[in-house]
This record gives sequence, structure tokens and C-alpha cells, in this order.
Amino acid sequence: MATRFALIIEPTASDDSRSDFSATFKQVDASAPALSVGELSTQRGDGIFESIGVVDSHPQEVAAHLERFVRSAEICDLPVPNVAQWRQAIDAAAALCGPGEWVVKTILSRGVEHGPTPTAWVTAADAADFSRPRREGIAVVTLDRGFDLNAPARAPWLLLGAKTLSYAVNMASLREAHKRGADDAIFVSSDGFVLEAPTASVILRIGDVFVTPEPTGGILHGTTQLSAFAWFEGQGYTTAYRDVRVSELATADAAWLVSSVRLAAPVRRIDEVEVSLDHELTDALNAYLLSPRD
Ligand code: PLP
Repeated sequence: MATRFALIIEPTASDDSRSDFSATFKQVDASAPALSVGELSTQRGDGIFESIGVVDSHPQEVAAHLERFVRSAEICDLPVPNVAQWRQAIDAAAALCGPGEWVVKTILSRGVEHGPTPTAWVTAADAADFSRPRREGIAVVTLDRGFDLNAPARAPWLLLGAKTLSYAVNMASLREAHKRGADDAIFVSSDGFVLEAPTASVILRIGDVFVTPEPTGGILHGTTQLSAFAWFEGQGYTTAYRDVRVSELATADAAWLVSSVRLAAPVRRIDEVEVSLDHELTDALNAYLLSPRD
């Protein structure tokens, strides 16, 4: 994945109702320096972001991403993003993307130290080729996330439900998974419940029901999981949000990690337990996730 395009955005107030925000975007050379050294996103990871899948220049599920972006800003006490402005910025970045799969990122940072305003930008990068994990599946290990299910309510300053730029823990977890011979990880709570993957949501098939952990503050509510659930329901299946015990991973009939760019990666092993792959269902789900979705 290489960032090809970048637009710096002058963020406006959430109630700015002009119809055309293009004067607030400035395209910059994506390979040249563009941020101040006093930028708090780089110094502290203090900011929020979204990664939006783009297929043939069509940005996917923009409304759901912007809803989560606004929620993340609220949790982090950042100025509430102007949804119309960000939607136009996403469209402008997506229009720069060529055919095939790309990723557009929206980033809103606390700003420059001592500066009055946040810094904002969008980038467009071509996506890695994920055809292999989508087809052959991935091996995952469970990793302790170090908090219990009640931690988000007890300690909201941990920002657990926000998609913040502080992804060092998520990246460290992926490195740990690789060291253990796996492709990815599933975080589990200290009191024995399934949470999410470092960059994806977890969906299990248990009998005829597709289950995902309830997003009650400790995990992100995945836009891909929302789309997948709508698709499962359209196919006549039942879906459920509920607390999922770690012990249920070993007996699930199938499992997927789902996210905006890799889409649905079927899980073929969880720790030492082999999980069967449903190629037909996975291919149909990914075909849906690759079709234009608003
Ligand atoms: N959980 C975490 C921690 C993530 O980073 C992501 C995506 O990056 C997801 C879940 C899945 O979210 P989405 O489907 O919106 O990409």
C-alpha cells in the first residue's frame, strides 16, 4: 500500500451549511513533507481516523464511517467534524483513485502544539492484494487486551470506543501474532470475553446464527460487520449482538475477521483449533462487500 494522493483540509464548524467545500481542500504532494513538527498527531497520536474502502473510485459505506468519525471526535473532545465537508473531501480523494481497490483515510488531529485549530487531511492509497487471505483464510491467536468488559464504562478516558490514531498497541499485537506463527489476532478481555481484532471485527457462525460481540464501548462498531449483518439477514440468516465467551471460539462453526479494506477474511485456525472454511459463503459475502455500497 502506498499513499498516492493527499488533500489538506481546513476544518469548518459542524453547522457551516455551504453547499460547496472545495475551497477548503488543498491537494499536496503525497511524497513531500506536509505536517508541522509540532503536530500532536505525530507527537502523541492525539487524533482520530477512518479507513474507507474504495472500489473503482466508489467510496464504500461513507455514512457509517462518518457516523463513527463523529462519535470518535465526541469521545475525544475534538471539534465535531462537519459531515458534509468530510463527505466532499472523501469524494474528492476517491475521484483521484484509479480502478480496483483503494483506501481513503480521513484524519483529524488535535492540531499543532499551542495552536488553536485541529489539523485535518485525507489520503488515498492503493490497497494491498488481499485475494489470498480472502480465499485461503487466516490463522489467528487470542491475545489478552488487559481490560475487562466493564472497563469502558468505569474509565471512559481510555477512549476505548474511539478510533484514535494511537494504534501502537494494535500494531504490536499483530507483530506478536506473527511471532507466534499466526496472521492476525483476536483480542480477549481479562474476564474471558471476545473483543475484536487489532484492525477488524470478529463474526462467528454458531449453528444458524451469525454472532458478533456487542459494541458496548470497549470495541469499535465495525462498518463492514454492519454491512455483513445486513447481507446475512437478506440471505435469510439470523444475526445477533451479544457477549461472546472465549470458550465459544473453539466450538464456532465458522469465523471471519471483517474490515473495510481486507473485507471478509475467513479464519482457518484459532490458537490450536482448526476451523472449517465456508468458501461459497465467504466468496458471496466478499462479492457483496466489493459491490458499490452507500
Ligand atoms: N476494530 C478495529 C480496532 C479496527 O481498527 C477496525 C478497522 O480498522 C475494525 C474493528 C473494523 O472496522 P471497519 O469494518 O469499519 O473497517
